[in-house]
Amino acid sequence: MRKAGRHFLQIPGPSTVPDRILRAIDMPTIDHRGPLFAEVGRRALDGLKTIFKTQGHVFIFPASGTGAWEAALVNTLSPGDRVLMYETGHFATLWNELAERIGLQPELMESDWRGGADPDRIEQRLREDTAHEIKAVCVVHNETSTGSVSPVAEIRRAINATVHPALFMVDTISSLASIDYRHDEWGVDVTVGGSQKGLMLPPGLSFNAVSDKAMAASKAAGLQRSYWDWTAMAGANGKGYFPYTPATNMLYGLNEAIEMLHEEGLDNVFARHARHGKATRIAVSNWGLEVLCNRQGHESGVLTAVMMPEGHSADAFRAATLEHFDLSLGNGLSKVADKVFRIGHLGDFNDLTLMATLSGVEMGLAMAGVPHQTGGAQAAMEHLKQTAAGSIAAE
Ligand SMILES: *Cc1c(COP(=O)(O)O)cnc(C)c1O
Repeated sequence: MRKAGRHFLQIPGPSTVPDRILRAIDMPTIDHRGPLFAEVGRRALDGLKTIFKTQGHVFIFPASGTGAWEAALVNTLSPGDRVLMYETGHFATLWNELAERIGLQPELMESDWRGGADPDRIEQRLREDTAHEIKAVCVVHNETSTGSVSPVAEIRRAINATVHPALFMVDTISSLASIDYRHDEWGVDVTVGGSQKGLMLPPGLSFNAVSDKAMAASKAAGLQRSYWDWTAMAGANGKGYFPYTPATNMLYGLNEAIEMLHEEGLDNVFARHARHGKATRIAVSNWGLEVLCNRQGHESGVLTAVMMPEGHSADAFRAATLEHFDLSLGNGLSKVADKVFRIGHLGDFNDLTLMATLSGVEMGLAMAGVPHQTGGAQAAMEHLKQTAAGSIAAE
């Protein structure tokens, strides 16, 4: 049966693609080796630098984020290299498994999935590694399975304090263009990004932003690579082209997305996400439920993972919101499957999108028989009123 009105895709990625980007993509595909294409390619490659905040290379792959994870590792490391991974949640675990499969020796620092990476633990581990066997430290900036943010600048300071030469790699697939991020200033060697979350694009593109140190490491790296090879990419990118067929129409969309982000202003985009995260946490605590992230200052503006009361199924609840309100919420992944649900509040998203989403959650809790207090959505609304730009309360 047809469902009237827009579907609410409130999972933490893919996020809803705005009409303006859909229209930008809806153009004839052109010759990717012809003269018109160079302008499209150049704009995308230069524009992305302003999003990653880097003067260095940014590579674009026609791939999901997982491809860019692999690209970061195979371009910089050699078989058997030790890599330090921090288990912030499901996505960090997947990156760790990928590293193992391609012939690295990853070491996973375990955690309780309730916060971002701890700079002190990383510093301590690097200090123990006096032989410098660890070749890279890999951290997920916004852990999409838990709604926790790792303090990237502090981790860089911790690595610097040890004077350890390991490369520093950060996954920003769900934080790029939603949470403040500075590739150059924070001294990150490889930043991994993706199209379908903060960048508001459909799935299908992913990125590596690369420091000079990582480019130099790629010359000596011994892992096999072909499709992901930075050297071939850098050569063609110099003139705005790619070594193989790029996702031309996605690049039209990417250029539009970058323009939209700058029209709003990146700092405003970050503040908008933080404010919606705060309003969502107010709703959750007023429902009498618990947010999975319990480390103060690590709470995400991109998504909020909510713990279900003991004995209640998060997936049954999510099925109810989908059936009754055409609202898709994120599921719990691996360790927290069926124990949490995730509210995505990222991308092309405003106060009323949040209020509709929280209303759907509150009604869904009632319909699925989940014990809770009413009034969470109301409390979030009060926060939005008080903090709205130009409101009397905010002045
Ligand atoms: C979505 C996501 C990924 C995986 O990206 P795919 O596009 O599904 O391959 C990896 N890391 C994080 C933090 C993510 O949010």
